[in-house]
Amino acid sequence: MIISIVGGGATGITILRHLAELVASGRDNGAISGIQLFDKSGFDGGVAYRTQSDRHLLNMKASTMSIRPGDADEFLRWLRARGLSCHGNRHLPRMVYRDYLDAVRLAAIAQCRGAGVPVHVEHAEIVRMRFSPDRDVLLTTDLNITHISSVLILCTGHNAPDDHYGLAAIPNYIRDPYAQFAFADRDGVEVGILGSGLSAVDTAAALAKTHQSVRMTCFSRSGLFPTVQPVTLPATADDFRDALHRYVASRERIEADAFAARLSGLLLETTGIRCDLSCRNVGGDALADLEHNIGRAESGEPSVYSYLVSVIDVMCDAWSRMRDVEKMRFMDVYNSGWLRNRSAMPLENAIRIRDLMRSGRLSARARLRNVTGIGGRFRAILGDGDRHDVDYVIDATGPSYRLDSSPLYQDMQRQGLIAFDALGGIRCGYDDSRVHDRHGTAHPNVYAVGGPTKGTHFYAAAVDINLRRAQEHHYL
Ligand SMILES: Cc1cc2nc3c(=O)[nH]c(=O)nc-3n(C[C@H](O)[C@H](O)[C@H](O)COP(=O)(O)OP(=O)(O)OC[C@H]3O[C@@H](n4cnc5c(N)ncnc54)[C@H](O)[C@@H]3O)c2cc1C
Repeated sequence: MIISIVGGGATGITILRHLAELVASGRDNGAISGIQLFDKSGFDGGVAYRTQSDRHLLNMKASTMSIRPGDADEFLRWLRARGLSCHGNRHLPRMVYRDYLDAVRLAAIAQCRGAGVPVHVEHAEIVRMRFSPDRDVLLTTDLNITHISSVLILCTGHNAPDDHYGLAAIPNYIRDPYAQFAFADRDGVEVGILGSGLSAVDTAAALAKTHQSVRMTCFSRSGLFPTVQPVTLPATADDFRDALHRYVASRERIEADAFAARLSGLLLETTGIRCDLSCRNVGGDALADLEHNIGRAESGEPSVYSYLVSVIDVMCDAWSRMRDVEKMRFMDVYNSGWLRNRSAMPLENAIRIRDLMRSGRLSARARLRNVTGIGGRFRAILGDGDRHDVDYVIDATGPSYRLDSSPLYQDMQRQGLIAFDALGGIRCGYDDSRVHDRHGTAHPNVYAVGGPTKGTHFYAAAVDINLRRAQEHHYL
C-alpha cells in the first residue's frame, strides 16, 4: 500500500520517521510499498521552527524533543554530533530544531529507500481529495497533478492567528508574530502586541533585539505573562495525578466548572499549591507576578506547571468526556489560566521580559476588550474604559486551529468527507484518530494527527504528544 502524508512540519516528519522504522524493521510485514509526502511551504520547519530569530526558543527542554520512537536522547546526540552539545534542560533556539527535522526527514527517506520502499517528496499544496471507486485516495496538488494512495494521514498543523478584531486590512497590522519585522526602529514608535502568552513573549524578545528604540505594550485579558518553568524538572509525587485520574475515569461525562474546581481542590490538598484557572487575578501587577514566578523557578521547587505537566493525558481524557457546550465553557473561562500555568515559559525568556519591563521598554495591560483602527494607528480599548493608542499591532494571540480557509478542507467539507469541529480542526476518533465524515462515520483509511485533531484531543501540538500518537495509531 502507498501512504500519503499531507504536511511536512514536525508532525508529518514524525509520522514519516515512524513509518520508516516500521519498514526498515519489517514490522509492517511488507505492507508499505510507497510513501508520498507533500508540503506547501517547502519543508521549512512549519509554524514553530521556520523562524529566523535566535530569540525564539524551544518552549520545551532539549531532553524532551527527540522524535525517534523509544530513543529519547536522539536530539541531544544529534546536537553533540554537530558540536552544539548542551544540557538536556536547556531551551535552544527553535531554528536549530528545524535543522534536526531536516536531518530526520532525509534519514527516514534514505531508510525507506534502503528497504526498497520509494518515497515521493513534493513541495506542493494539496487542494483536493477524492475517493476512487475502490476507496483509494486521490490527492490533487495546486499544480493540478493527482496522486493515488491507499491511506491518507493529514498533518496540516495550524495557521496564522485568527484576526479577532478585523484588523487584517490595516497596513500596520502584522498577522505573523514570528516574521522579521520590517518597520523602522525609531524613538516614539509604540508597538502593541496582542496577547501575553508564549507567542507574545517570543515577539517581545525578538523585537527588543532588532528594534532597540520602540516601546512595546502587551494587551490581553489577564495582563499577566505565563508562569516560569523550573530550571530542572523537579520530582513530584503522583498523588495529584492519581487523584485527578480517578476523578476523570469514574465519570462518563465531565463538566468544565466541576473539573476545574476539582483540579484546584486536589492540587491544594495534595501539594499545598493554590491555583485558580479562571484567572480571577486579572489586572494583577505583571512585573511583580513575573518576579515572583522567576524566584520560584530559580528555587527549583515544584510549581503548578510541574504538576500540570504530569496530567496532560488526564486532561485530554477529561476533554474527551466533555460535551461541546462544556468544552466551550472550558475554553471561555479556564483555558487562559490553564495555558498560563501549563505553557510556562523558559527562565531565560522570563528574565529577558522582566528586564524589558524594568527598563520601561515593555508594559502589559489587562482587560483588553477591542482594538480598532484610527487614522493609520490603532486604539486598544480596555475594560476600565481606558484607551491606549499604538502605531503597529502584532497579533501574538497564538496559532489558529480553524481549517475553514484551507482549500483542501473546504473541498472535503463540500463532499461531506469531513465535518469541522467547533472547537478547532475536524471531527475524528479520540482513540484511533480516524477522520469522521459529516454523519460521524469513521473513514477506514483517512487519519489526522496534530493540529487538525484539536477539538478531539485538546492537546494536539507538542512533538512529544504527536510522537506518542504516531506510535499508538495503526495506519496499516
Ligand atoms: C511558536 C511555537 C513554538 C512552539 N514550540 C514548541 C516546542 O518548543 N516544543 C514542542 O514540542 N512544541 C512546540 N510547539 C508546538 C508545535 O506546534 C509543534 O511542535 C509542531 O510545530 C507542530 O507541527 P505540525 O507539523 O503539526 O504543524 P506545522 O508546523 O504547522 O506544520 C504543518 C505543515 O503542513 C503544511 N500544510 C498545511 N496544509 C497543507 C496542504 N493542504 N498541502 C500541503 N502541505 C500543507 C504546512 O505548510 C506546514 O509545513 C510550538 C508551537 C508554536 C506555534
